[in-house]
Amino acid sequence: MKPQGSQAIDKDSICILGIPFDANSSFSKGPALAPSRIRESYFSDSSNLWTEQGVDLETLNGLYDVGDVDCSEESSTFDAITHRVNTLLKKDARIICLGGDHSITFPILKAYAKKYENLNILHLDAHPDLYDSLGNNRFSHACPFARIMEKKLAARLVQAGIRTINGHQREQAHRLGVEVMEMKNGNDWLEKLEFQGPVYLSLDMDCLDPAFAPGVSHHEPGGFTTRQVLDIIQKLRGNLIGADIVEYNPDRDFQSVTSMVAAKLLKELIARIDTNRLRNHQGYL
Ligand code: MN
Ligand code: MN
Repeated sequence: MKPQGSQAIDKDSICILGIPFDANSSFSKGPALAPSRIRESYFSDSSNLWTEQGVDLETLNGLYDVGDVDCSEESSTFDAITHRVNTLLKKDARIICLGGDHSITFPILKAYAKKYENLNILHLDAHPDLYDSLGNNRFSHACPFARIMEKKLAARLVQAGIRTINGHQREQAHRLGVEVMEMKNGNDWLEKLEFQGPVYLSLDMDCLDPAFAPGVSHHEPGGFTTRQVLDIIQKLRGNLIGADIVEYNPDRDFQSVTSMVAAKLLKELIARIDTNRLRNHQGYL
């Protein structure tokens, strides 16, 4: 992951974009600090830059860190996110966004929906994030997938890791046609799930059990192991064209345990997107 200098972004580029924004967090702030911490852990000498999937990220062509979106003006940040993602997508880049709280996925998806018809979303989270409004805020980090589905930004939304669904959100899921794989029903869904067309992965770090990822604002026991999330990234059937990693909260972390998990997931996501990118060029997908 090199800083993007004079190199041109094109269809062979995988871009890492930071979005240090947590104004829409309902419970505690902190995720704005995440992008820089995840980058630190990514480059930590305690590990190396080979992925489990056999890709050497140190020599991978076209992998760029394109910096952060300017989030200093809260009222214009959503527009700034959509604009920045849109600019990269126009060049056919694949993008992994580092949040930030989960509210950022709505402005990201606004840009993705323009680029990709029939977009599929796989959303990993303890929470469905389908509230019509929370704390009088329709753009809260508890609401993005209600906004995304109302605006028809995706053809299909599959959620997994869910273990906090309440009556209102169950109604919302039904109304908006969301497929909810509840944690209590086990992990068979991964083998059965197949996406036709492009897939965007939205990864809320609290999909993991707090034992594996304590650095999140909302500790919700009963979640995925790190290995299960890696399995999802590596085995998911579909053409992965973008992703976000959100809700890492460094203020709640211990000894960078959670940022190392986020960095590992980032590495495997890059390798997975690279694999899809090569297969696309060869006409497999
Ligand atoms: Mn979330
Ligand atoms: Mn969550």
